[in-house]
Amino acid sequence: MQSEQNIKGIIWDLDNTFYRFTPEFRLSCNHAAAQAVLDLGFGKPYEECLDIAIQSSKNHHFSLYTFIKKYGLDYNRLHFLFHQHMRPDLIDPIDGVVDKVKSIKMPQVVLTNGSRDWALKALKQIGAHELFSNKQILALEDVNMTSKSGGFYGYEKALNTLKMRPDDVIFIDDLDRNLEKAKKIGLNTAYVHHGIELKQKPSFMDYQFHNPIDLIDYFGW
Ligand SMILES: [Mg+2]
Repeated sequence: MQSEQNIKGIIWDLDNTFYRFTPEFRLSCNHAAAQAVLDLGFGKPYEECLDIAIQSSKNHHFSLYTFIKKYGLDYNRLHFLFHQHMRPDLIDPIDGVVDKVKSIKMPQVVLTNGSRDWALKALKQIGAHELFSNKQILALEDVNMTSKSGGFYGYEKALNTLKMRPDDVIFIDDLDRNLEKAKKIGLNTAYVHHGIELKQKPSFMDYQFHNPIDLIDYFGW
C-alpha cells in the first residue's frame, strides 16, 4: 500500500459509489431486470421475473445474476436492455459530492460494469457529466464485457488510460468482490460502505469510508 501522498490517480466505480442506492432505486433496477429478460423472450410472467430479480439482487448484489447462472440467459444481450430500462430519474445524489470531486487535481477515470449510455445518464443526473470525458469513462462494453470481479482487463485498461502503475492508483468501489480483484493486480483499494461499516476489514481493503466525501476529506485532495 502506498502512503496517501503517493496516490497519483483514481479509478472510480459509479453505481452505489458516487451516489447511494435507495430502496426505490434498487427496486427500479429489479423492474429493469424483469423487463430486460422478458424483452429477450424469457417465458415467465412479469411478477415472477421481478421476484427472481429481487432475490437475485438480495443474494448476489446483481438483479440479473440468477437469470444468467440458473436460467442460462446471455448477459451480453441483457447488458444493454437492462441498462436501457434503468431509471436515472430515481437516483438520489449525495449533496456535495460533485464539488468535492471537482476539486481533485489528479487524473481520474470511471470504471463501471454498467453500459456507457447508462454511465452518461447517471453522471448527468448527479451533475458530474462534465467531470469525465468520454475517454475517462470505461463501460463494460469498452473492456470486452469483462466485469470488475470477473477479470483484470478493466483495471488494466483504466491504468493504461491513466498511464500509471497500480501502486500509484486508488480504486474506489462499493463491492468487496471488485476490491478483492483490484487488490490482486496491486491497486490501492477503498471501500465505500454508505453506513454499513464492516466490523472486520478484509486485507484486500486498504481503506473504508462512508462515502466519497469522507474519502476525499481524509486524503485532503
Ligand atoms: Mg457499484
